[in-house]
Amino acid sequence: MVDSFKHKGLRKKMVGQLRERGITDEAVLEAMNEVPRHLFIRDNIFLSHIYDLKAFPIEADQTISHPYTVALQSSLLEIKRGDKILEIGTGSGYQTAVLVAMGIKVYSIERQRKLYGITKPLLSQLRYRAKLVYGDGYAGLPSFAPFDKIIVTAGAPFVPEALKQQLKIGGYLVIPVGEGNSQRMYRYTKLSENEFKEEELGEASFVPLLTDKAK
Ligand code: SAH
Repeated sequence: MVDSFKHKGLRKKMVGQLRERGITDEAVLEAMNEVPRHLFIRDNIFLSHIYDLKAFPIEADQTISHPYTVALQSSLLEIKRGDKILEIGTGSGYQTAVLVAMGIKVYSIERQRKLYGITKPLLSQLRYRAKLVYGDGYAGLPSFAPFDKIIVTAGAPFVPEALKQQLKIGGYLVIPVGEGNSQRMYRYTKLSENEFKEEELGEASFVPLLTDKAK
């Protein structure tokens, strides 16, 4: 669990590239400068490439989100101190750690037991305190609802009704929607109990949000 000067330097460079690509939320950039992304990637990537703007494979055929995607989704949440956030798709835990580093309360659901079993001890070892849940993201987390913001980090074939319900009025749901590995990013603002404003925010590419227990 080493975070060397070399890692820190590469991370700073990554943050500079995110700025060049149009990320302006300073709190997000600061969190991404702080969180040691390389410790969430357990593939054999050369040190000189580990901070490239790329999504890398993790266990169980999943991926750690691309740094730009993490920066974009985190920015779209317009995080305020004290926010209570639900993440669907814990995966490597990197996005979770970035949100925790921003000083907010994070709940995160993972459907694959193997990933849950790896990420839970990793986050606690790195001192990123989040409430991790092994379960089905489509159902959300009714016992801890409502949430100020909800972020889905897998491609959803449709917007799960439970997630809309579990959002506070005025809250945001940031979710890539589409079939297969290609989606469009959406942000929904909850205007009233059953009214939502929809914003479409360009292309996205995530692994699918699973509906069956097989994977
Ligand atoms: N935020 C993660 C992204 C991981 S990829 C990161 O930065 O590493 C998406 C994750 O969503 C995978 O770990 C996958 O197992 C998980 N997932 C897929 N379907 C799910 C579901 N229905 N509920 C919860 N998690 C799900």
